[in-house]
Amino acid sequence: MQLHFVRVQFTLPMEDIQFNFMVNIFASERLKEIYPRIKKFVEQELYPIEMELLHMPFNKAAIILQEKRVKAKQQGLWAPYLAEADGGLGLSMIEFAQLSELLATTPFGHYTLNCQAPDIGNIELMHKHASPVLKEKYLHPLMKGEIRSCFSMTEPGYAGSNPVSMGTTAILEGGEYIINGHKWFTTAADGARFAIVMANTNSNGSPYERASMIIVPTDTKGFHLKRNISVMGEAGEGYLSHGEIVYTNCRVPASNVIGNEGAGFLLAQERLGPGRIHHCMRWIGICERAFQLMCTRAINRDMGDGTNLAQKQTIQNWIAESRAEINAARYMVLHAAHKIDAEGSKAARNEISAIKFFVADILMKVLDRAIQTHGALGLTDDTLLSYWYRHERGARIYDGPDEVHKSSLARSILKEYGVKK
Ligand SMILES: Cc1cc2nc3c(=O)[nH]c(=O)nc-3n(C[C@H](O)[C@H](O)[C@H](O)COP(=O)(O)OP(=O)(O)OC[C@H]3O[C@@H](n4cnc5c(N)ncnc54)[C@H](O)[C@@H]3O)c2cc1C
Repeated sequence: MQLHFVRVQFTLPMEDIQFNFMVNIFASERLKEIYPRIKKFVEQELYPIEMELLHMPFNKAAIILQEKRVKAKQQGLWAPYLAEADGGLGLSMIEFAQLSELLATTPFGHYTLNCQAPDIGNIELMHKHASPVLKEKYLHPLMKGEIRSCFSMTEPGYAGSNPVSMGTTAILEGGEYIINGHKWFTTAADGARFAIVMANTNSNGSPYERASMIIVPTDTKGFHLKRNISVMGEAGEGYLSHGEIVYTNCRVPASNVIGNEGAGFLLAQERLGPGRIHHCMRWIGICERAFQLMCTRAINRDMGDGTNLAQKQTIQNWIAESRAEINAARYMVLHAAHKIDAEGSKAARNEISAIKFFVADILMKVLDRAIQTHGALGLTDDTLLSYWYRHERGARIYDGPDEVHKSSLARSILKEYGVKK
């Protein structure tokens, strides 16, 4: 395909982009081999077209990205987190964390290598808990990148922060579940082949055993994508959208349940643990890119009085604070990744809660400082900053709002002091 490059005046010259997030003490031999290859791929294939892609509707960008996905596969870079037997690179969490940062320095890095949310979380979940038939039909094409998926749990009428309360029901009748409910913020529902739906299969059961996770193909009669919700002025489309969905008498085979009936809440916790660390890794990559844009703007902005912005103490403070905060966030995330690798995500619950709110906060601060440093330009769509500002404000809300994680971490700590709840 012939690409027509839009000249974007204010972005960083490509030769100045020199990211290297590999931390020597955590760099395995495998990572040392794969890291430079993925770095080269991102630099050559994605940075040069990222602004152009952002300025076109996603479904058009997806055609170009499809070519990049094929290239990534050919170069052996596909889905690094998957086991080698599944076509991936078999990386540990701590290895993937460092690659994930790198991929996140450009908006479509994860998508191009098939490690994007929500698919990555659905893949991990189905890998562990789906039946062989469901794996064959849904998981395998998902791992190959032939289809996309979505995760449909949050509802407009119920507090998503406490997912045990929910209105959607799945009633078993004649070997089929009949699903009725209203969901929203189902990310990437538009164009997905199937949704993993959280629904009450036993509304009278204990709160933690009421719900199940059920696969609903999006072409099921009664599946209605009502709209892509406009978020901060942008409804988006395809992978870059958040759907509001009405399920009306959707019938699916009883065998579409993932794991046991009634295990939905448990599985959601299991899915969200690694999911949260995936977000944190990504946010650090975004921080690094925003940081680099901020520094570059500061040295290049002539203030008209013989100084440039980089000579102003406030800007220097932002640069120093951002550097320290990003470094702190990185080590916290790598530590959490190490604990997940060594002891599993349940044991790392506190570390995951801590990074979820800590890194989201740093992301907000760094993006805001970078925008402020750019002045009016920072608000425009001529740099990557406004895209990330729009898309990542949700970081403090999705997969558990800050307040919930802080409260859960504090309660866990206070338990050691004898406090019961
Ligand atoms: C960009 C984005 C993508 C998303 N993608 C998905 C998806 O793919 N699938 C899906 O199912 N859902 C998705 N969600 C939904 C998300 O998981 C929920 O928004 C989140 O769980 C919060 O639920 P809520 O919006 O209903 O807020 P509420 O539960 O109504 O909470 C509102 C606010 O109350 C405060 N609060 C809540 N609980 C407490 C507490 N215990 N203590 C103190 N304060 C508290 C917090 O500040 C919180 O932000 C997405 C959301 C966003 C923003």
